[in-house]
Amino acid sequence: MVSPVHGMRPAVFLDRDGVIVVPEFRDGRSFAPRRLEDFRLYPDAAASLQKLKQAGFLLAVVTNQPDVGDGLIGHSEVDAMHEIMTRQLPLDAVKACFHGHGQACDCRKPKPGMILQTAMELGINLAKSFMVGDRKSDIEAGRAAGCATVFIDLGYTLPAPDSRSRFSPTVPIMRASSKCRKIPRSRASPPIRR
Ligand SMILES: [Mg+2]
Ligand SMILES: [Zn+2]
Repeated sequence: MVSPVHGMRPAVFLDRDGVIVVPEFRDGRSFAPRRLEDFRLYPDAAASLQKLKQAGFLLAVVTNQPDVGDGLIGHSEVDAMHEIMTRQLPLDAVKACFHGHGQACDCRKPKPGMILQTAMELGINLAKSFMVGDRKSDIEAGRAAGCATVFIDLGYTLPAPDSRSRFSPTVPIMRASSKCRKIPRSRASPPIRR
C-alpha cells in the first residue's frame, strides 16, 4: 500500500453537485438530482477536465450523497448516475459517501476520508493536489487532507469558507444553469403628455 505522503502524482479532487453536475437551486441552496432523468453535467465539464488531465492531474470525484442513507434515492440510481459521469468524463476515481445525516462515518465531508482513501489507492501527493467545491465542507475536507482548495462561490445562503480559498467564477454559473428565465423587459411607461 502506498502512503499518501509518499505518493508522487498530483490530483484534482472534485465535488460533484455544483461543480460538475448541475444541481437544483432552491431557496438559496442546491440539491442533488434525485431522478436519473434530471442528472445533467455542466456543458463545459468534459473539456475542462480534459485540460486538467493533459496538465498531468489525476481526477477524482469525492461526493456526499446523504439522500441514499436518508432513503430519498436508491443506491442503484446513484450508481447509474456515476456510470454516466465516468463514461463522459476522464475520471480516475469516484468516491461517494452514502451515509445519511444521522449516521456517523469517516467518509462524509468535511472529513477527509474519501480524499485520503483515493490518495492511498492511486499514489497521490496531497501537497501537490487541489480540492474544488461549492461548499464549506468541501474546502474543510481539502484542507484537512493537506490540499490546496478552490471554492466556487455560487452564492448560497449557507456559511462560506473563510476567504483563503475563495474563487469567484467569472461566469455566473448559478444563473446560467438554474431554471431562471429571462424576465421580459417591462414596457416603458407611456410618455407624459403636458
Ligand atoms: Mg456541491
Ligand atoms: Zn460516509
